[in-house]
Amino acid sequence: MARGYQGAQGDVKAFTMKKWFNTNYHYMVPELDDDMELKLRSDAFLDGFHQARSLGIQTKPVVAGPFTFLKLARCTGNKSATDFVDDILFAYADILKRCGENGVEWLQVDEPYLVMDLTMGDVALFRKLYQTLLEQKGTVKVLLQTYFGDVRDCYRQLCELPFDGIGLDFVEGKQTAALVAANGFPKDKILFAGLVNGKNIWRTNYKDVLERIAGLKSCCDHIVLSTSCSLLHVPYTVKNEPQLSTEIIRHFSFAYEKLDELRELCCLAELADYSCDRRYLQNQELFQTSELRTDTEVQKQVAALTESDFTRRVPRKERQATQKELLNLPLLPTTTIGSFPQTKEVMQNRTKFRKGEISEEEYRNNAKGFIRDCIALQENIGLDVLVHGEFERNDMVEFFGENLSGYVFTIGGWVQSYGTRGVKPPIVFGDVKRKKSITTDYIRYANSLTDKDVKGMLTGPVTILNWSFPREDISTQEMMYQIGLAIREEVLELEAAGVRIIQIDEAALREKLPLRRADWHSDYLNFAIKAFRLCHAKVKPETQIHTHMCYSEFEDIIPEIDAMDADVITFEASRSKLTILDSLMAHHFETEVGPGVYDIHSPRIPSVEEIEAALRLMLDKIPADHLWVNPDCGLKTRGETETVASLKNMVQAAKNIRNECKGDI
Ligand code: GLN
Ligand code: ZN
Repeated sequence: MARGYQGAQGDVKAFTMKKWFNTNYHYMVPELDDDMELKLRSDAFLDGFHQARSLGIQTKPVVAGPFTFLKLARCTGNKSATDFVDDILFAYADILKRCGENGVEWLQVDEPYLVMDLTMGDVALFRKLYQTLLEQKGTVKVLLQTYFGDVRDCYRQLCELPFDGIGLDFVEGKQTAALVAANGFPKDKILFAGLVNGKNIWRTNYKDVLERIAGLKSCCDHIVLSTSCSLLHVPYTVKNEPQLSTEIIRHFSFAYEKLDELRELCCLAELADYSCDRRYLQNQELFQTSELRTDTEVQKQVAALTESDFTRRVPRKERQATQKELLNLPLLPTTTIGSFPQTKEVMQNRTKFRKGEISEEEYRNNAKGFIRDCIALQENIGLDVLVHGEFERNDMVEFFGENLSGYVFTIGGWVQSYGTRGVKPPIVFGDVKRKKSITTDYIRYANSLTDKDVKGMLTGPVTILNWSFPREDISTQEMMYQIGLAIREEVLELEAAGVRIIQIDEAALREKLPLRRADWHSDYLNFAIKAFRLCHAKVKPETQIHTHMCYSEFEDIIPEIDAMDADVITFEASRSKLTILDSLMAHHFETEVGPGVYDIHSPRIPSVEEIEAALRLMLDKIPADHLWVNPDCGLKTRGETETVASLKNMVQAAKNIRNECKGDI
């Protein structure tokens, strides 16, 4: 189900994979078929509980709640989520029963969907589920846990239902404190107060938290101090980072350290006066501004930006005409998103260089060897716009971070992304600036090997920031503009080196869109779009700017995506059934588009016919001279054999459809 299947027993596509709310963690979307029966299949959810208890530790098992499950599941037939209420209640009643039988004291039920904009129907569904379920809780205490925002649409209902504890997020939940202050908190429940940020890696400011606790004490009798969300989204411990100086590391708190903070905060909160306590004073010292983190030159540059820094001189339609003439590409041009499979040799080259076993010159020469092979391979496959393959990159964000000042890196700071894949987000520590030329040498080299165009390949400022751990002492806008200026330097350098197509990936733009619609523009979209425009506003009209987004669920923000003013956008669409195309058409989307024609997250090889079918669907909605043909994301996680086979099928399909189109034009 997770990876798709292709073999003796058939050919099945993988389940849809989506980002877990506003994080870079992915989940498989559960599918509910009409004839499906939901029931508890095993006690696996108690495995960790038993293991801990054998060590003498009582833990609370955690399960995803029925409301969030139903809201995120996809119904494949005629039934809708509400038709599964009885079934799912049956399954969760079993969970409670098994908890009771196994000596569970507290069961934590996660309902992050409660922080989304809820309709009255949603609130009614939530109430119905829990009214029934809580009647069956027996001796087990139930903690209803929310995170990633506030529960403004259902706070009252939450308080009325017979939960034993309610977990609220005071970090991302902008209105959480006000909700509690205005409505009070029920005397018979425990407040699990998420006051330590579970998503970022900075030390907690004790002053803020202790003041908040003091405020909460006036209306809550029982408070449990907690992190704002699961610690899945931060690395394990700073103890694995001996390479970082004490001056830097003392500012960090990973998962393990956050537990220490919780413990210290609990002690301090019990004191009549904590203001002279050593732990408190040491903590406060961390929040004095440090020179290490300030670069006034960059700050001035950002302050001096004007509208012309964000606006391309020639309107897109005119540019598109000029570019068509200059680039002379066939109808339905084929391309890829950037990376090619990271073979053993590619990874060994990086490891050897990192360990000092080979010189920089050797390393770069090897990288160029991979580029040469990759260009030859793409010419052989018959692609129209080529890429250099990204063999020098460990990761599309970490690589750029390494070439920017103001960044700090960890050795063991992994967080889970999807399946067994992890990412190691770099940390924005100070003001950010480009240290030196980053990609131009490789891209220039790749371009020298072929008559076709090779795309310059960069990561955009929104994605660099969204996949880093950001600072908390300056605004997101400020950080994005700083990174935007650095990428702009690189873009202009590529252009000067004769690169005619430049792709600036914004894979993570959609994922950090605030969960509540009311916050979209004020909080995020305005400056995220501007940060992207800042990167390319100053290029010549002939230079074609591409962007790429992994996550195509941008149906609600299509005008904003168009306003990024790129010339071409490629995006992930193969797992989301292409519904996005209708919205593009409805909004008269101007940017040329390359909706991914096959899914690269699965090793499955798409057939020529299947890609042709996808292209025909696309051509129903998108003018042929606006359509590109490409996979839905980079190929670095794939094996070589399946990649070559898939791309060959893709190129063949494009050729076949091109011939069909010729009759129409
Ligand atoms: N250019 C990047 C690559 O191909 C884009 C990856 C992504 O969108 N996550 O690897
Ligand atoms: Zn992608």
